[in-house]
Amino acid sequence: MLSKNASLKKLNSFGLNVTTKTIFLLTHENQLPELITAVNVAKNNHQPVLILGGGTNILFCENFNGLIIKVELSGIDLVETHDHFFLNVSAGENWHQLVVYATQNNIRGLENLALIPGVVGAAPVQNIGAYGVEFEQICEKVKVIDLITGKLVTLSNKECEFSYRYSIFKTKQMANALITSVTLKLKKNWRPQNSYGALKALGESVTAQQIFTQVCEIRKEKLPDIHVLGNAGSFFKNPIVGETQLSHLLKTYPNVAYYPYKTGEFKLAAAWLIDHAKLKGFQIGGALVHQQHALVLINKGNASPADVLNLAWHVREVVQIKFGVLLEHEVCFINKNGVTTLVKEITRVRSE
Ligand SMILES: Cc1cc2nc3c(=O)[nH]c(=O)nc-3n(C[C@H](O)[C@H](O)[C@H](O)COP(=O)(O)OP(=O)(O)OC[C@H]3O[C@@H](n4cnc5c(N)ncnc54)[C@H](O)[C@@H]3O)c2cc1C
Repeated sequence: MLSKNASLKKLNSFGLNVTTKTIFLLTHENQLPELITAVNVAKNNHQPVLILGGGTNILFCENFNGLIIKVELSGIDLVETHDHFFLNVSAGENWHQLVVYATQNNIRGLENLALIPGVVGAAPVQNIGAYGVEFEQICEKVKVIDLITGKLVTLSNKECEFSYRYSIFKTKQMANALITSVTLKLKKNWRPQNSYGALKALGESVTAQQIFTQVCEIRKEKLPDIHVLGNAGSFFKNPIVGETQLSHLLKTYPNVAYYPYKTGEFKLAAAWLIDHAKLKGFQIGGALVHQQHALVLINKGNASPADVLNLAWHVREVVQIKFGVLLEHEVCFINKNGVTTLVKEITRVRSE
């Protein structure tokens, strides 16, 4: 279903008042041929195409000048083998509702990922993760359709090339791939993953339901509700540094928050850096660094895309000057032509 000149205000969790030239609501796989035609028409007219799930990891930097495909495919299939549960889930299913469904049906392994906003089809894109579990650990395969040719392809876990907040779906090679469904593989012989932060206190004999409840409680306490305060979760990634840079930092800031990542690499807590740069509560226009969670930038209600961009740039600059660490945005930046970056957008906004 195609609509013209549509508002995106309710389709991005930042709540920014932006529009798109056209929007295609994909609710059923039988619309795929019609969608391929719409995509080819847009491409022939040199218009960009963007796939949108819940819009909770996106910053629209200005109005979008092309076709947005809003994915609302639904359906969950459960297949049981001797050792595993396999969940085949359509891309438009709400992620948290899937976690609720699994936990209530004693299918364990998703509980640490409770309350992550957005839809299932977006989960592989940035390899969502929380409380010691990442999507890649439970992903069996991902089904995609090439939006130009209409060809259907299934990628194995390995072919998805997952790493920290990254997958093959972020590359140019996959720019025309729309994820239609994912298959999750969950062991019946479940072991709790509660070695992370506040979950440790739950002890060895904890149940999946208890982890689920605890994760929900922590997240509700820590993170602003997107329906009340516009935001896109963690705005910046936790920077990865080598041993030399870490020991250099520790000399000046012995309390810097970090944890081991891969051999010889460490993740710094971006929230600690922003907090210790005294940026909590810092505001530009209608955009603000959240008082309780330094990693979250919020829209107080009337923020413009330029307010958010200026605030993000200020945070990046102050942190770089104080700690010598460059923050990269986790949120996906979109301008009128498609994917862009903070550096490009701040240059544009300041020259206008
Ligand atoms: C309050 C809050 C807390 C959050 N906490 C976490 C967290 O703990 N861990 C975490 O990892 N993330 C977190 N996030 C980020 C966000 O929830 C995830 O990135 C989520 O997967 C985004 O889902 P979405 O449906 O909103 O995707 P969107 O924002 O709509 O899209 C994100 C990207 O995926 C692409 N995409 C979406 N659907 C498809 C598809 N079907 N096929 C191909 N590409 C597609 C889009 O083009 C875009 O590039 C949080 C966000 C908020 C607002």
